[in-house]
Amino acid sequence: MGEDAVQITFNNVSYTYMPGSPFEKKALEDVNLTIRSGNFTTIVGSTGSGKSTLMQHVNGLLLPTEGEVTVGNTSFHRKTKRKFVKPLRRKVGMVFQYPEHQLFGSTVEEDILFGPIQHGMDADEVSKRIPELLDLVGLPQDVRDGSPFQLSGGQMRRVAIAGVLATRPEVLILDEPAAGLDPAGHRALLDLFQSWHKENGLTTVLVTHDMEDAFRYADEVVVMGDGRPVLQGEPEQVFQDSDRLQSLGLAVPAAVRIREKLNRCGLSIDESFLSAKQMATAIRNEGGK
Ligand code: ADP
Repeated sequence: MGEDAVQITFNNVSYTYMPGSPFEKKALEDVNLTIRSGNFTTIVGSTGSGKSTLMQHVNGLLLPTEGEVTVGNTSFHRKTKRKFVKPLRRKVGMVFQYPEHQLFGSTVEEDILFGPIQHGMDADEVSKRIPELLDLVGLPQDVRDGSPFQLSGGQMRRVAIAGVLATRPEVLILDEPAAGLDPAGHRALLDLFQSWHKENGLTTVLVTHDMEDAFRYADEVVVMGDGRPVLQGEPEQVFQDSDRLQSLGLAVPAAVRIREKLNRCGLSIDESFLSAKQMATAIRNEGGK
C-alpha cells in the first residue's frame, strides 16, 4: 500500500441534477462514505443507483449540491470555485466505458500525449516514456507512429488507457472499463489495472455490473442502492448476504450461489471462498469426511 495514497471522503453529500426544473432528479442522497487510501474498492449497484454521479465528484467534474467531498488534501463543496478543484483532474485518472471513442489523433503517440499535455506535462518527457507505456498496456512498439484507427477495438482502448496512465494519477476511477471486450480481453485489462494499482500504491475504484469482478479484485466493496451506499465491507462479508443482494436487484456471485446449493444438499461448507480452486478444495475436503 502506498504511504502517500489518497483517501476519498464523502460527508453528507447530496447531488441533484437540473434543480428547479421539471427534470429535477436527486441522484445522491446524504452520502457518507470513506474510500480508504491504497485500497482497490469496487462499487456495485443497479442502474440508476448513483454510481457514476458519485465517481464524477472524485475529480471535481461535479460539485456536491449539499455536503462536502475530500480527495487527499483537497476539500470542496457547492460554492467551491472550479479553478480550485482543477488540479484534481490530473491527480484522478478516469477511465469510462469505451474510452476509445475519445481518440482523434493521427498517430497513437499523438493520442497518448494529448492528456498529459492538457495537464501541463512536458511533451518531450512523456514522449520518452512512450515505449514503457506501450509495454505497460500490452501494445507492440510498432503501433506508435500508425493511426489508432487501424487498430482493433481492444487495442484502441489500450491506447486511450495509456494516455490516462501517462499522467501518473494517484487515484484511478474505472467506470466499467472492460465493457464490450471478450472474456479474455476483459480479464487481461482488469489484471493490468490491478498490477498498476499494486505497483504504484494507488487508490483505485472500479465501478462494475460484474459481480465476479467485484468479488475478485476488491479489498473492499460498496453496494449503492437508490442514491446512497447500503452495504460496505470486505467482499467475503458483503457477498455472503445473498438475500440482501437480491433485494437490491443484484446478482449473487457464482461461488456464493453454489455454496448455498451445496449446503441445501447437506454438504456443509461454511468457509467463505472466492475462487473456483478454493471452492473445489472445500468440496473435496467436505466430500472426504
Ligand atoms: P448509475 O451509474 O448507478 O447507473 P447514475 O449516477 O448514472 O447511476 O444516475 C443516477 C440517477 O441520476 C439516475 O436516476 C439517472 O437517470 C440520473 N441522471 C444521471 N445523469 C443525469 C443527467 N445528466 N441529467 C439528469 N439526470 C441524470
